[in-house]
Amino acid sequence: MAGITAGEALKAGAALLRSAGIDTPFLDASLLLGEILRLDRAGLILAEGTPLSPETRSLFDQSLKRRLSGECVAWILGRREFRGLDFIVGPQVLVPRPDTETLVEAALEFIDLRGAKFPEGGLLAPLSVLEIGTGSGAVAVSLKAERPALMVSASDISPPALDLARSNAQRLLGKADGVNFISGSLFDGIAGFFDLVLSNPPYVPTALLETLAPEVRREPRIALDGGSDGLDLIRPIIAGAPEHLRPGGMLLLEADPGQMPAIAALLTRQGYRNIRVFQDLSGRDRVIGGIPSGGPRQKNAVTGIL
Ligand code: GLN
Repeated sequence: MAGITAGEALKAGAALLRSAGIDTPFLDASLLLGEILRLDRAGLILAEGTPLSPETRSLFDQSLKRRLSGECVAWILGRREFRGLDFIVGPQVLVPRPDTETLVEAALEFIDLRGAKFPEGGLLAPLSVLEIGTGSGAVAVSLKAERPALMVSASDISPPALDLARSNAQRLLGKADGVNFISGSLFDGIAGFFDLVLSNPPYVPTALLETLAPEVRREPRIALDGGSDGLDLIRPIIAGAPEHLRPGGMLLLEADPGQMPAIAALLTRQGYRNIRVFQDLSGRDRVIGGIPSGGPRQKNAVTGIL
């Protein structure tokens, strides 16, 4: 294979990935070779006839081997694009999915409407957002990057995930305190009131974990396993959010399309109104939101009961 060109290496690499049953062999091979050559996909096409050095070939072979062994492209590259930003990812967090951009879009729609109602300098400004289970920080950091005036807090139960989220915030926002990161489970350690609480919690039913693609099964179980019906984390978020929302504030949750009716019923039972579902890029119901009726519900200081 002396003198193999970039185009030939790409074809051979894609064929290898295809024969292993990988869904997007050409895209994956292009991303892996592009990373090594520091070229985007257009640049790769232009470089098709360029011979590859032995070093490049060997690096490409190593990347292909990792992909064949079941690592996803994001892990091999060490980063994943989300909302146009490059997030560092690793085995400690769920790789940000395009589906989750729907959560950010729904959040921006609500924030912009609310911002128009309560302009800067108004009683409730600046608007504040809390993300539960931030993982790589993709949602929280994107919101802060896209609406710099927002006050953004984000929690996670996993210390290694929070470390990564903090470094993503530092790198992408240019400052360490752009997002206020909080270590803890769900609402533990969360003080104050927010205009929006949002989460992409683990929502895969435990029994289905084994049926996920091999790449997904290697991601942290704590970010995927939602218990027997997938709603084990969604239930306490729905129950707890009203305590942390300002009047008229919204809860937004990502979940599986098939879970939406059950979540809508839970929201209704807990007194949420204006329940709304948002579709992802494939047109599937992916995000659901609602506004608790009444003002913020505070626990009775004596009984601890809502
Ligand atoms: N949509 C994810 C997947 O199955 C699940 C993410 C989650 O549980 N939050 O890839």
